[in-house]
Parts: sequence; structure tokens; C-alpha cells
Amino acid sequence: MVTARVVSLPGYDVLIGNGLLDQLGTLAAPVVRAHRYVVIADSTVAALYADRVMTALAPARTDLLTIPPGEHEKTRERWSWLTDRLLELECGRDTVIVALGGGVVGDLAGFTAATFLRGVPVIQLPTTLLAMVDASVGGKTAVDVPAGKNLVGAFHPPSLVVADPAVLDSLPEGDRRSGLAEVIKHGVIADADYLARTVAAIPALTEAGGGSSDVMLETVLRSVQIKAAVVAEDEREGGRRKILNFGHTLGHAVESLSGYTLLHGEAVAIGMVLESRLAEWLDVARRGTADAVIHAVTQAGLPVLPPPGITRDVDRIVAATRTDKKARGGVAEYALPLSVGQMAGADRGWGTTVDEATVARFLVDQFATANESAAAAVG
Ligand code: NAD
Repeated sequence: MVTARVVSLPGYDVLIGNGLLDQLGTLAAPVVRAHRYVVIADSTVAALYADRVMTALAPARTDLLTIPPGEHEKTRERWSWLTDRLLELECGRDTVIVALGGGVVGDLAGFTAATFLRGVPVIQLPTTLLAMVDASVGGKTAVDVPAGKNLVGAFHPPSLVVADPAVLDSLPEGDRRSGLAEVIKHGVIADADYLARTVAAIPALTEAGGGSSDVMLETVLRSVQIKAAVVAEDEREGGRRKILNFGHTLGHAVESLSGYTLLHGEAVAIGMVLESRLAEWLDVARRGTADAVIHAVTQAGLPVLPPPGITRDVDRIVAATRTDKKARGGVAEYALPLSVGQMAGADRGWGTTVDEATVARFLVDQFATANESAAAAVG
């Protein structure tokens, strides 16, 4: 038996340990009274891990629903397909959904669980770094719609989260780097020492075999502790939970404008760079904050600027922030850092509204050099 590290949130635990995947049945039994399980996974993850999960859940009846991989699958259409399959399988309220995969499957299977028969339990079994440290914890579930990311969803906390970092050994390097964006975010919003430790550990975290390393286990544990502490205080994002949105207002805008060709973590990295610079531009953040963010993002091999097609279209970026869930009265709200390890805005509910003209001026300034170089290269 593997000894799990445990992080407790109101109503559920996150269990972290190499090899836990094979103990799922034993771990789930005391938490959910399941008559049957339905595992939802994308085809890549299903090919790698579904057999192990199904074996671990035996002798309970377990079905597998497989979807194609990718953000393009996180849609109402795929949600509708999944709920129809559950009905065909004659699943009742005694069914437990197991979300086996990255954040896409976690969000989609979570939303399916939130809505099927007015809600059935879900166990999150994250298989990407991003899903382990972020998406699987906190109960947010959603699908994307043409107007923007995550705009239709529900708060539906899992009954259990089981993170087995050893599965990260099979995760492509780009996806491991993408997950580092949320790890960096946790350092910036809450723990400067953790950010420094993470930056120093990037080579070990990204090398072959880094998934099952001790440093990966400690990284997943510390990030989950940070996220859990914030979520436990403010489950429905009325206040402090907003700090988790650092990098996400401009990040989500850039991600949807890229047509989801940017990975989520890449978009968040760009968002964190821009929003920490915005914080300095507005005299909210201490000088040097943005440089520390840029250093971490660069070390992680993540981008600091959006692709050229997007930098030339500041108006569309600003318009995309308007449909962000965090917008209030059509004006985007930002979670801005005060310094590394500390967020601004405690006195105003942790969100800072910035008027659009200011954001547009800021972005034109930030992108000027990149746009001039691109124009010179073409001309
Ligand atoms: P993803 O789910 O698309 O996974 C990335 C890729 O890795 C996929 O192709 C998948 O098939 C593959 N994969 C997954 N695990 C693997 C493994 N162990 N080995 C080999 N391949 C593997 O992407 P993601 O980065 O995990 O998640 C991004 C999504 O998470 C976005 O939709 C984002 O909005 C969401 N998210 C949600 C929350 C939340 O609080 N609910 C927080 C952050 C992000």
C-alpha cells in the first residue's frame, strides 16, 4: 500500500502519492456509496490508464466512456453526448463518475456529474500536472461556448481527488511545462519561497522520469495546499478565491482568440506576464514583480507574449475580457499582485477593475516592440 499525502478541503480530501491509481477502489469505497462507476477519459489517457483504473474499481460494475482529446471537446455538444450515453447505460443516482484525465476531462466530466439527474458524485483522477495542481481541486466545472471559455458550468465539488504524480512520466513535455504555469501562479499569489524553489527545480520537473520524482510529489503537494487554503476560505469566489484568477483575465482572452491553439498554461503564462506588468504600470505592484514573473515563465519555457496575429488586435483582446466570468457590469476585473507572494486588493474584495481604455493603452505599449519587429520582418 502506498502512503498518501492528504490535503483536506471542506467535504473532501485530495490524496497524493505515486501508485495511488491502483488503489482507487479501496480509496473510494469509504467516501462514495457507489453501485457502479462510469469512467470518462479522452482516448489518449484511456489507452494509457483506463485498464488500471477499471481493475482497481473491480468488482464494482464499471463502464468507460471515451472522447477525443483536446480543448475543442469541452463543449455543450460533448456534454450532451455524454449525458445521453449515461442514460443509455441506465445509470441512476447511485452512479459515480470518475474523471480520468487532464483539465478538459475534469471540467467536462465534472459538469456532466453536476447536471446528470440533478447531480451525481464525481471522483477526480487528474493525469496532467495542471489538473493535479489546479483543475481537479475546488469544484469548478464547465464547458466552453462560442462566446468564451468556461461560460456554462457549475460549482460541483468532487467527493475525492486522487493524484498519482507517477502518471506524469507519460505526459508530453509541452503539457508538463503548461502545468508549470499554474504552479508559478501559486508561488506568485501566496509563497515567494515556493516560487524560488519551483524555478530552481524546473530542469528536474521537466526531465524524463521527472513525473515520479520526489520533487514533483512535493510540488504537487505544495500547490494543492495553496489552492486548498484559498478555496476553503471562499468556495464560491465571493472574495479571496479571486486571487487564483491571476493571469487568467488576459490569459483567457488570448487563449480563446488563439482558437485554443495555445495550451491553457501557455495562455496563463502570457496572462501572468501582462497582468504583473499592468500591476506595475498602475503602480499597484512593487517594481521587480513583473521581472520575477517573466524570469519564472521564461525558465519554464513558456511564452511571454501572444502570437503576432493577436498582438496586432488589442481591441479584440479587450472585447474578449468583457465576456470573462469575472467581469462586473461589462468591465473586466483583474487579480493583480502586490509583490511576489502577495496579492493586491484585500480592501476591495481582491478584484481590481481597470477601465478598458487604460487596458488598451497598456497593451498597445506592451506590444509596440513586437509589432514593429514583425512589421520589419515582413517589410
Ligand atoms: P488537457 O486535459 O487537454 O490535457 C492535455 C493533453 O495531455 C491531452 O491531449 C491529454 O490527452 C494528454 N494527457 C493527459 N494526461 C496524460 C498523461 N498522463 N500521459 C500522456 N498524455 C496525457 O489539458 P490540461 O492542461 O490538463 O487542462 C486544461 C483545461 O483545464 C482547460 O480547459 C482549463 O480551462 C481547465 N482548467 C480548469 C480549472 C478548474 O478550476 N476547473 C483550473 C485550471 C484549468
